[in-house]
Amino acid sequence: MSSIAIRVTFILLAVACVLAPCTARAQEVDLIPHSTPFDYNFFRQFARNELERGPTGLEPLRPWTVPPSFYLKTTVDPTGEVVPPEIIEHVATVLVNGVREYSGGRLSAGGVETGTENRPASTGWANVLLLREISGAMPNIAGQATLGGNQGTMWLRFDPDDPRLFVNDPSGCYARVVQVAAHEIQHTMGYYHTSGTYAARHADPDCDVANLSESLRYHGGVMYSRPRGNTDPDTDPDGYTLNATAAGSQPVVSCSDALVAAGGVIR
Ligand SMILES: [Zn+2]
Repeated sequence: MSSIAIRVTFILLAVACVLAPCTARAQEVDLIPHSTPFDYNFFRQFARNELERGPTGLEPLRPWTVPPSFYLKTTVDPTGEVVPPEIIEHVATVLVNGVREYSGGRLSAGGVETGTENRPASTGWANVLLLREISGAMPNIAGQATLGGNQGTMWLRFDPDDPRLFVNDPSGCYARVVQVAAHEIQHTMGYYHTSGTYAARHADPDCDVANLSESLRYHGGVMYSRPRGNTDPDTDPDGYTLNATAAGSQPVVSCSDALVAAGGVIR
């Protein structure tokens, strides 16, 4: 490149940086790869909701840009029974592990608090509620969650009278509600349902979200290296800021018993 060309390029960059602050664009961003180990079809289901919206209705990415903290209400709505502390402990473990694993190691949970009061939605926080029944658009809802950051709510069905509460739980998890939490944390972290073929590949046999498959962590890392609102082929929204901390908007995803029971990982 000639010195004139270099000078023109520099001037253009300088003008561009005056017109639009360069801080966002100057940050290092990993481009979405288009070959192994990246699975484009999986990513578009998992992170863009292709399964339910189709190829023309893909959602933009909704990663958290702040460390998610969790507030667990320790009584059951609306009846007020106290949730056994072991249940709260297991659910909390799943949530904390889920932040690390589903962000590909790029985020750690900010903290976990428990209490009996209701808390309003707050940036940086996901409120976790246990309910005897969850009503919604479908029957037999096991759980619901808002999808992505930077704030959220997770609703987990929890029946204190269920004899399968601790032992003999068919899910193989500590308790049924722990399995539901292991499913819902994926939505909270910004992911959608995928087809059944991916569930076996990404199984979580220990049901503690502690050691997910390398592939799942890899795709989580890709998701969490993109700005909120990113679409493919790797297009960022106008005027984006990679580390913007606004609450954003989150759709609510409902999950039936059958859906959750079909696999410890979203399907
Ligand atoms: Zn679900």
